[in-house]
Amino acid sequence: MAQGLRFVLFGPPGAGKGTQAQMLKDRLNVIHISSGDIFRYHLGKGTPLGLRAKKYMKRGELVPDDVTIDIILDEVMGVPEGDGFILDGFPRNTNQAQELERVLAAESRDLDKVVHIDVSEPELLRRLGGRFICHACQMPNAIGEGEDGGTKKCSRCGGELYQRDDDRPEAVKKRIEVYNQETMPVLGFYRERGVLVNIPGDNTVDEVNQLVLAALGA
Ligand code: AMP
Repeated sequence: MAQGLRFVLFGPPGAGKGTQAQMLKDRLNVIHISSGDIFRYHLGKGTPLGLRAKKYMKRGELVPDDVTIDIILDEVMGVPEGDGFILDGFPRNTNQAQELERVLAAESRDLDKVVHIDVSEPELLRRLGGRFICHACQMPNAIGEGEDGGTKKCSRCGGELYQRDDDRPEAVKKRIEVYNQETMPVLGFYRERGVLVNIPGDNTVDEVNQLVLAALGA
């Protein structure tokens, strides 16, 4: 049987990783693993993990590796043999990338590709300010300037929308700073391994989707 694709959607907050992952998971029949969604789930349920992650998430900082790595690698290793997966939001520093490489290599399941969606900073700020998430299906919805996201419904499933605490201006500034300092070096790690593909992400969702599919050879 053909092996499913194993890849990372890489990029700054607001690059469209979550949106692209939603579009790709059914089309490619792969499992979507979003570290941010996992943390938000625990936060919502008030689990010990959620309580530990809360202060970092609120500030737009990375949750410490001793919490993050085990949780996400457990999910990755839970993907049935032969199935593919999309990693969205992980790895976010070189230590996480090394640990991921170690566990995947041990099972001969190395990553096929790391797709870097490159988006300019002004565009990121514009998008994050207008991003509202669906309570029901987690799909990010773009709300135009002057519109009230709190009264609109999800364009996919009609669910209620909310704005993430960390999409407010102070946290957004911090998240972009953290991305530039801690996450960008991961690009060099994957470039050296020959799996990195850069695509421009300022275009429309559908245009970016075509570029991602082409990058994956899918
Ligand atoms: P995201 O939805 O990917 O933007 O993630 C939301 C927040 O969850 C981040 O700002 C971090 O606080 C935390 N988080 C998500 N993924 C990671 C990760 N790989 N390492 C550390 N913290 C993470």
